[in-house]
Amino acid sequence: MAKKTPPKSVTIVVPLYNEEAALPVFIDAMDAELKKIIEHSKQGLKFSILFVNDGSTDATEFLARQARPENFTVQLINLTRNFGKENALYAGLTHAKGDAVVPMDVDLQDPPKVLAQMIECWLSGAKIVNARRVSRNEDTFLKRISAIGFYKLFNLVSERSIPENVGDFRLMDRDVVDAVLQIKEKKRFNKEIFAWVGFTSEDVTFNRPERSAGIGKWSTWKLWNLALDGIFSASTVPLRVWSYIGFFFAVLSLCYGLIILLYTFVVGREVPGYSSTVLLILFFGGLNLVSLGVLGEYIGRIYLEVRDRPAFIIHSTYALDD
Ligand code: UDP
Ligand code: MG
Repeated sequence: MAKKTPPKSVTIVVPLYNEEAALPVFIDAMDAELKKIIEHSKQGLKFSILFVNDGSTDATEFLARQARPENFTVQLINLTRNFGKENALYAGLTHAKGDAVVPMDVDLQDPPKVLAQMIECWLSGAKIVNARRVSRNEDTFLKRISAIGFYKLFNLVSERSIPENVGDFRLMDRDVVDAVLQIKEKKRFNKEIFAWVGFTSEDVTFNRPERSAGIGKWSTWKLWNLALDGIFSASTVPLRVWSYIGFFFAVLSLCYGLIILLYTFVVGREVPGYSSTVLLILFFGGLNLVSLGVLGEYIGRIYLEVRDRPAFIIHSTYALDD
């Protein structure tokens, strides 16, 4: 008799921060969707959802522990405080034991019905399956423009480009997750790390719906900081660019100096201009401050890495594999 291959396991990692409104809706939707996927799978699949409670202060932990879904097991990691989504996701990845791992948001903005397609691609050999948003029509104008600007700028300065309009929602084979976990950086920008490890990827596309319940946790300020973190962690171009700017202005001032010299010889001494002097002082003062700021970004980063503090602290766990 042919030996039966054991079912493949998929761990879905879901960071949670004050999500008591969205969590029950998510659990029900996933239970229904995974039921369909399991029924249709030929070689057998088993699912677990690993929730990472990122310091919620509402009933999130209670609701996660109480869940009794039929088609997946529930695991839970409680962090000691709010460490932010990037770190919560990292905490989840370090404890996810599945043959494939899928990070997902709890608010159904990463639609469960896309999972079936992603798993199909993975079972036919893909190591990474990206879920790509086809449009950003539901975003505000400002968010749309800034997203386009961010991806363009990031891919211009970074050695490895990140796929546009792909969030953290993607399927990663065990090999990919193990590679991601080899990177020990403390200040993590997951999208860049996922791109850095390489492997070939395939895409599935979807329309991103509105949040199911509860409120979004990303203010414009937080998003701006995430974008800065992304660019500064992926590239040293912002450091190098100052050499070019410095060189450009050095040449420019040399030319200007020559012009003044010639002018003085030909026309004679001119009354010194107050406004142009102030303008130049302000301009170069500003330029100096910006370049100091850029240096500061990298020095701050070196400081954080040298301190070597962990990216998250676990308070307690529930139903973990080991
Ligand atoms: N989240 C988290 N820690 C935070 C902020 C958010 O774990 O500090 C989780 C949140 O519970 C959700 C996911 O990250 O599952 C995405 O959050 P949100 O929907 O607010 O982000 P957006 O859809 O605007 O990217
Ligand atoms: Mg959301």
